[in-house]
Amino acid sequence: YEKQYEQHWKKLQQQLKRENMEGFRNEFLDMHSYDQAMFFIEQKKSIRLQIYTYLSPEEIADIMESIDEEEQTRDLISEMDPRFASMVLAEMSADNAVDILNEMDKDHIASFLTIMDTSAADEIKHLLHYEEKTAGSIMTTEFIATYKTNTAKQTMQQLKEQAPDAETIYYLYVLDADKRLVGVLSLRDLIVAPEDTKIESIMMEKVVAVSAGKDQEEIAQMMRDYDFLALPVVDFQDHLLGIITVDDIMDVMEEEASDDYSKLAGVSDIDKPNDT
Ligand code: ATP
Ligand code: MG
Repeated sequence: YEKQYEQHWKKLQQQLKRENMEGFRNEFLDMHSYDQAMFFIEQKKSIRLQIYTYLSPEEIADIMESIDEEEQTRDLISEMDPRFASMVLAEMSADNAVDILNEMDKDHIASFLTIMDTSAADEIKHLLHYEEKTAGSIMTTEFIATYKTNTAKQTMQQLKEQAPDAETIYYLYVLDADKRLVGVLSLRDLIVAPEDTKIESIMMEKVVAVSAGKDQEEIAQMMRDYDFLALPVVDFQDHLLGIITVDDIMDVMEEEASDDYSKLAGVSDIDKPNDT
């Protein structure tokens, strides 16, 4: 299997050398975006600059989303042409774009936001307001919400339209006329319901939600306790602001684990014979 992998990489490198854009795209885009990222970060900068001209901002955005180290993604974004980079950021899900921007200085953030398409920029600006390590800072605003008075059929139609841009389609959040979060149902609940069923009759009313200021570590614990794949984030009036998905939480747990590890390493310094 590894051998196959190696050959594949060689083939991709040859296509780049021969400037065979079509061949490269066909082979490269067939791979899973994580594997694309692995190939991508192993290349020299000059090769990466070539790849940027072969792929669309959307295709590059998928690769950037597969890289876990925000510092690394920031460096890649910084080597791109700024206009292209801002399109890449706009194509990423807003929470991930914010994580990367948070690694940059204020002037850089401002310059990216001014050249970005306004709707993406507005969403990012909104998320940048939340304090680091809170629900608001790790949530994404690409969720699916329906109204409690809608039927299953209407909701299914809406789901089809919104699914391509949603972070997860597994849970649908239910709002009342004042746009307050009043229920939730899973995709499974929706699929098995007869078409004319009202959403309010099949939704779960006791919604577990977190406030935007809640600490990310507590949210990780709730995610483990309840075993949901996502949790909704609400403001003090129960308006739905965003969702946090289990993959956001996996990143948090990794981050917290390495923080704890550094703390542990710090503690062990006390044992060292030094000037005390
Ligand atoms: P089941 O486990 O019953 O087979 P499922 O596999 O379709 O359901 P799960 O992810 O296990 O889906 O979710 C179970 C139920 O939890 C769903 O019916 C959904 O309505 C409900 N649910 C999802 N998110 C929340 C939440 N934040 N608060 C309360 N209930 C929720
Ligand atoms: Mg289940």
